Amino acid sequence: MNAHISIAPIAEAQSGPAAYRLLIDGKWVDSMSGRTIDRVSPAHGVVVSTYQCGDRADALAAAAAARKAFDKGPWPKMTGAARAKLLLDVAAKIEMRLEEFARLDAIEAGKPIAQVRGEIAGAVDIWRFAASLARTLHGQSFSTIGEGKLGIVVRDPIGVVSIITPWNFPFLILSQKLPFALAAGCTTVVKPSEMTSASALLLGEILIEAGLPAGVVNIVTGEGSAVGAPTVESADVDMVSFTGSTKVGKSLMAVAAQTLKKVSMELGGKNAQIVFPDADLDAATDAIVFGAFFNAGECCNAGSRLIVHASIADELVERVRARTGRVRVGDPMDEATIVGALISDDHAGKIGGFLESAKRAGASFAVGGEAMQADSGRFIAPTIVTGVTPDMAVAREEIFGPVLSVLTFNTAEEAIAIANGTDYGLSAGVWSRDFDTCHMVARAMRAGTVWINTFMDGASELPFGGFKQSGLGRELGIHAVEDYTEEKTLHLHSGGRPKPWVVDAI
Ligand code: NAD
Repeated sequence: MNAHISIAPIAEAQSGPAAYRLLIDGKWVDSMSGRTIDRVSPAHGVVVSTYQCGDRADALAAAAAARKAFDKGPWPKMTGAARAKLLLDVAAKIEMRLEEFARLDAIEAGKPIAQVRGEIAGAVDIWRFAASLARTLHGQSFSTIGEGKLGIVVRDPIGVVSIITPWNFPFLILSQKLPFALAAGCTTVVKPSEMTSASALLLGEILIEAGLPAGVVNIVTGEGSAVGAPTVESADVDMVSFTGSTKVGKSLMAVAAQTLKKVSMELGGKNAQIVFPDADLDAATDAIVFGAFFNAGECCNAGSRLIVHASIADELVERVRARTGRVRVGDPMDEATIVGALISDDHAGKIGGFLESAKRAGASFAVGGEAMQADSGRFIAPTIVTGVTPDMAVAREEIFGPVLSVLTFNTAEEAIAIANGTDYGLSAGVWSRDFDTCHMVARAMRAGTVWINTFMDGASELPFGGFKQSGLGRELGIHAVEDYTEEKTLHLHSGGRPKPWVVDAI
């Protein structure tokens, strides 16, 4: 691991920040209050973006524009083929500007540029996948419900969707929601994280260029409580698709209950990798380091708990420690960096608090455990905490930083109990060369995704989401577009009434 992190200056240090506006009803506008938010790059310490600081009035104007576009505009009535064509055009335009998207997310989130290119390429694939679903969305028919009768179940777009996204994968997570909502024929208000809004606004430009009708996608930047919350309250909005913390997710569900809106929630995780003695330890070692430290651990899917059989614990921890020492933490714009800067001082402080609490509880650090020196920004060394017991905060709570907690087990039942013993249930991994072990453990996991002899793989075709307090609903997968629809039953009858309800008195 590097001793001191050098950060090269970025162009914005000379040119100043890029300025952005809100997209409401097809027009770029300033916030009604005229206030703005400066985003300081977490690695470089310079202001890279100036956003409009929207508030309630802007959010409600956006919701009204989306409502009008849904009720009166052409988008919900267009053919699936026409919507697919536009989504494919948008995918091609994102691909053409991939480098711009990658740079924006890298400098605003502090993520390694080489990694973000992969995220944007993944997002392009999702837009293309959603386009395919726009054409194949269909209902059901029932010809078995009686003579002269036909039942048809159609899928109507649900209406206006409020899309609220976090900062850790700014463009990728927006792309897990928006193209599916559009494929279904919905209109939207998008509220990106106040820390990483630039890529969503660049997408706004592309959507206009591609000819999306006014009001179908509105983008309002600002703080969550000022912009996100009013869209969840608004009667103009029919559904909320939220990715973020479990705490905010719960509060939004309570608000959505007032108007009985449908909610889709992608929330936090405390994901375990369980390693048995017969596992391929070379492969497992790399996947454990990747799972724990990818995106600086600021990842809902982070494999933040290693649950290892006691007989191989020392050997595996030593392997993981040695490999962790080779992780290149550094300037996000350096092509060789694989772990970048932490998102904010507040967040780094929260991670530091977890490390302190682990020490106080009697755990120790096999490696890391402290901040790294850098020219600018904030970095915490990839950290392995040993001597962890299931009751400690580092074993139960989502740290969202580069911290791996190691726990040990003696029997498979014990491993399963530890893995399932948190409030979360997003994902898990199991490592063994024995099919029966993998199958038994995978089936016992209370998690939305279980990786077997791999970790954090994904594909647009595979549903993603959480059990327990990790969320509600699934994104991606071949049913993703259906989440943004309402089923409507059409009950048809031909011929007269075979058995009248009112009969003449005899
Ligand atoms: P967060 O909950 O603080 O914020 C998420 C979004 O909600 C932001 O746009 C924020 O402005 C907005 N928001 C905040 N308070 C709000 C309120 N009162 N009303 C309406 N909107 C509000 O989360 P974060 O810190 O941006 O992201 C990290 C969290 O996201 C972690 O817990 C992580 O596990 C989770 N996450 C989950 C997934 C998943 O797919 N399950 C993916 C990525 C991140």
